[in-house]
Amino acid sequence: MTAGAKRLAVLGHPVGHSRSPAMHCAALAELGLREEWSYEAIDLAPDEFEARVRAMPGEGFAGANVTVPHKGAALAVADELSEATREIGAANTLVFDGGEIRAENTDAEGLLRSLPGSPAAARALVLGAGGAARAVVWALLREGASVDVWNRTELRSRDLCADLGGRPMAAPDQASYDLILNSTAVGLRGESPFEELPLEAGGFRPGQVVLDMVYGDEPTDLLRAAAEAGATVVDGIEVLVQQGALSLEIWTSRTAPLDTMRAAARR
Ligand code: NAP
Repeated sequence: MTAGAKRLAVLGHPVGHSRSPAMHCAALAELGLREEWSYEAIDLAPDEFEARVRAMPGEGFAGANVTVPHKGAALAVADELSEATREIGAANTLVFDGGEIRAENTDAEGLLRSLPGSPAAARALVLGAGGAARAVVWALLREGASVDVWNRTELRSRDLCADLGGRPMAAPDQASYDLILNSTAVGLRGESPFEELPLEAGGFRPGQVVLDMVYGDEPTDLLRAAAEAGATVVDGIEVLVQQGALSLEIWTSRTAPLDTMRAAARR
């Protein structure tokens, strides 16, 4: 790590809504690191990203989280990539290590840690084929799940499966899956999941796990309906917390205080 470098940040565009600064500052305080370490949000337009990232080690930064729309650019700017990062094709964590920039992806492992059990024998349906879906599909396949992928634009789900594995699925049978994961942006701006996705509100069942990467102040319509049907639900804040905890552990080499991070992210 660069000597004396203790600044951290989340880089996005826009980034003002991000819960990462509150979550990481609470964690640093809990670990007694608040005097030495800081965590801030930095709004960077795409054309500013590379130059700013290259300048960060010289400004005292030890690392950064990267969010929309920079996860692909983070890969391109890195000198070294973890295996997950290279295969998924996106990075959400940068580490400034001496003169090198290292890129990691903690979204995949964070997703797995959010699940109530191992997905090894699960039949999983992943909705979406963007950056979030790539990490989800990669993680589930690595654990041995059987993965079907639906996406509004079918060409993208076919491309994703050709690249990572899994089966493109145009008309999934909702009740047949053990695990249903929404990694589309549906719900973020009030869209109805039951109009935009191949799901019915009454089509969930007990025994299923339903995870929504989208989150807000209230449970999403998707999770509300799944919970009403007796399914086990996991929200996007839990995924955010788990990926953030893994990033913090990479930077500080300390065990992240999950409960503190959860409370701060939900506030
Ligand atoms: P992305 O690369 O822009 O992909 C967007 C995905 O959403 C695509 O599959 C797109 O389908 C689909 N989509 C958008 N509007 C749709 C609609 N009206 N109907 C059906 N499908 C629609 O975005 P991303 O980075 O993958 O992120 C996806 C979501 O996950 C975002 O809402 C983000 O907030 C959330 N996320 C959460 C976490 C977390 O920690 N909880 C982490 C990462 C991302 P097309 O291909 O057809 O356009």
